[in-house]
Amino acid sequence: MPLVPALQPFRTTIFAQMSALAVSTGAINLGQGFPDTDGPVGMLEAAQQAIRDGHNQYPPGPGILELRQAIAARRLADRGQEFDPETEVLVTVGATEAIAAAVIALVQTGDEVIMLEPHYDSYPAVVAMSGARHVSVPLRVEDGRFAMDVEDLRKAVTPRTKMIILNSPHNPTGTVLTMPEMLGIAEIAVEHDLLVVTDEVYEYLTFDQTEHIPIGTLPGMAQRTVTVSSSGKTFAATGWKIGWACGPAPLIAAVRAAKQFLTYVGGAPFQPAIAYALTYEMAWVEQLRSSLADKRDRLSAGLVAAGFQIVRPQGGYFVVADIRSVTATLGREPDGMAFCLDLPRLAGVVAVPQEVFHDDPADGKPFVRFAYCKRDEIIDEAAARLAGMSG
Ligand code: PMP
Ligand code: GLN
Repeated sequence: MPLVPALQPFRTTIFAQMSALAVSTGAINLGQGFPDTDGPVGMLEAAQQAIRDGHNQYPPGPGILELRQAIAARRLADRGQEFDPETEVLVTVGATEAIAAAVIALVQTGDEVIMLEPHYDSYPAVVAMSGARHVSVPLRVEDGRFAMDVEDLRKAVTPRTKMIILNSPHNPTGTVLTMPEMLGIAEIAVEHDLLVVTDEVYEYLTFDQTEHIPIGTLPGMAQRTVTVSSSGKTFAATGWKIGWACGPAPLIAAVRAAKQFLTYVGGAPFQPAIAYALTYEMAWVEQLRSSLADKRDRLSAGLVAAGFQIVRPQGGYFVVADIRSVTATLGREPDGMAFCLDLPRLAGVVAVPQEVFHDDPADGKPFVRFAYCKRDEIIDEAAARLAGMSG
């Protein structure tokens, strides 16, 4: 295909590919991360009402004021962060656009952008679009979670480093960065005068006693951080694509400058519905959080029973499974991509190979990501099918 060299590695996202595979084979889709039940009824009705009320034309460039106010109010109440809805909050077409616009606006050819590896697929793609280069810092399993070594981050910084893209709770590993990790990142960002784009789309979905730490709240960070979040995961409305970026006015003005030429605006009737949800539906989110923790346990137990090794996620939608013992039993190579492409036939299930989140696919080869944001009966059926798998 006539795709420019910089974008050659990013032809089709694995999520589209694997969801299409699930549709064409009728397999259970534990690949792409989307819930199979709807968000709060009041929010759904608010969107329908907004359509009936004629909110069907372009909303204002930065998003409707009511939503920007609701976002600012939530950040203040839940995180103690103060953002002026007029100048420090920007509504975007999902977190994806917020991240893309931030990268395009703030880095250019010759710059380096550090990100945690494994990394969500859109980060390297937008860094490539901006002409910059990405540099990865690995997460490694330590004491039952994926951990970041602050020294690895320190070593990754060069005079060309301009930005760190963070993601916690993390996709795909389910790790939630700890206070020592966050403080280490903040110290390095301050020392080297780096910008931080923090992807917090799973901010409300942490389990057990794990707390989400927004890096923008740490000393010296507010002025250099673009905080990105989205309604998709918080309110189970991934298809609405209402996201946002918050930060100091000069950074948000820069992000807005890029964003206005990507989509200009989006989702007019969904904006008042998300404003409603942020204001009135946080009790629903609390229930989602506890039900997702149960689903995490349910799918993890099912995967272990089927012979996979897992690392217990602390947040988010996904659990990473080591497939090596299963593929050994099946007499197959421990190759996650081949395994995922064959999994509909082997077990009637779709998952996502972790290698797509790595610079060198070999590093992610023996791992596969499963989504547990599904109804219990679907999780149970998938687990039973995986346990009964044979070559
Ligand atoms: N970041 C991460 C880590 C994700 O998992 C996703 C998928 N929800 C996104 C960004 C994209 O979010 P949105 O759908 O709001 O664009
Ligand atoms: N964030 C979702 C996932 O990781 C998918 C979003 C997408 O399809 N781009 O599965």
